[in-house]
Amino acid sequence: MKNKVVVVTGVPGVGGTTLTNKAVERLKEEGIHYQVVNFGTVMFEVAKAENLVENRDQLRKLDPETQKRIQRMAAKKIAEMAKEHPIIVDTHSTVRTPKGYLPGLPKWVLDELKPDIIVLVETTGDEILMRRLGDTSRERDLESTASIEEHQFMNRCAAMTYGVLTGATVKIIKNRDKLLDEAVQELVSVLR
Ligand code: AMP
Ligand code: MG
Repeated sequence: MKNKVVVVTGVPGVGGTTLTNKAVERLKEEGIHYQVVNFGTVMFEVAKAENLVENRDQLRKLDPETQKRIQRMAAKKIAEMAKEHPIIVDTHSTVRTPKGYLPGLPKWVLDELKPDIIVLVETTGDEILMRRLGDTSRERDLESTASIEEHQFMNRCAAMTYGVLTGATVKIIKNRDKLLDEAVQELVSVLR
């Protein structure tokens, strides 16, 4: 039988990575083991080896054709990992690039990953803006709340098309300020 593949997405700064890691830790205590794969990290390693970027926040500024070539290579690598374990792919439904929203899971990526569940982690534009301002470890784009909300809307549209193309279910999880534990619980139930 095929291992479960869950794709966790959210706009930069919504806390998708934190949420995923906490949910995975909790499931370990129940004897349920997922391997977490960060799509951006796999892409960064490929792009860095080709001397295309120096940090992960430069990836989305590369020309779209280059991004898609690296994306495809990353998807193939991740599909290999999914042969061994159930996996969670920490990624983005769409990536906001200077040339427009780039689909995080175009059909050739879906064909490799064959996801069972797509999770959208969301909160309000205001909360995301504040979280980005507080994170100095990354080169976050300075965006208005309206623009962040547009991005979340596009992410929903894209995620549902991924569902339509694959049969994957699409789950929206709210990650509100000070309510991280509720979001972790909800993700745990989705992954169980
Ligand atoms: P992250 O650390 O999750 O913000 O990912 C770093 C960068 O990796 C993003 O800003 C994107 O440029 C790239 N990335 C991650 N996932 C994808 C994807 N599915 N398709 C294209 N680019 C991606
Ligand atoms: Mg992240």
